[in-house]
Amino acid sequence: MKIYDVSMTIDEQMQVYKNLDEKRPIISITRDFRSSSAMESRISIDMHTGTHLDMPLHFIENGKSLDDLDLGDVVTPCKVFDMTYIKEGITQMDLEDKDIQEGDFILLKTANSSTDIFNFEFIYLTEDGAQFLMEKKIKGIGIDALGIERNQPEYGTHLTLLNADILIIEGLRLWDVPEGEYLLVAAPLKIRGVEGAPMRAILLEIE
Ligand SMILES: [Zn+2]
Repeated sequence: MKIYDVSMTIDEQMQVYKNLDEKRPIISITRDFRSSSAMESRISIDMHTGTHLDMPLHFIENGKSLDDLDLGDVVTPCKVFDMTYIKEGITQMDLEDKDIQEGDFILLKTANSSTDIFNFEFIYLTEDGAQFLMEKKIKGIGIDALGIERNQPEYGTHLTLLNADILIIEGLRLWDVPEGEYLLVAAPLKIRGVEGAPMRAILLEIE
């Protein structure tokens, strides 16, 4: 069975949103073989680091948190759309000719996956694109950017999706994945009450 690892590697030099230092993970060794018989380390990490899930609570007060996540919604068939030809935002027009059905989990593969350096001009989902997906009643959307929207002062894309309880995965790495249908396994860390968490996301080829 072919397994695609569609996750970012977490390290202190990895790309973080807008290259902000406060968003960098810090990994420290608390015990090692110089002074003891084992190695242990710890990590200080923003929940929106690398490949991660956004729950409604990220933008909606009293919205659903990770406690409310149904694993069946993130261990699920999904559709990868190749949108590497898009230069700016992905709009309703760009999505209209795609096969999108109620309950789908859609992953948007864009030019963002071609580099591991944070690009301030990253490809994103526009508010009208989000509106279209909301009307289609999808259950989840993933993108290979650290943000699903870019410079939208009212957070229209996030709010449109999260108000409809549509799950958002950000920070995917999809460059090696051909367009098609896969089994998505995208389980975030099980942390109580939070608005999102990092995950190891993989795609399995459906036989
Ligand atoms: Zn996020």
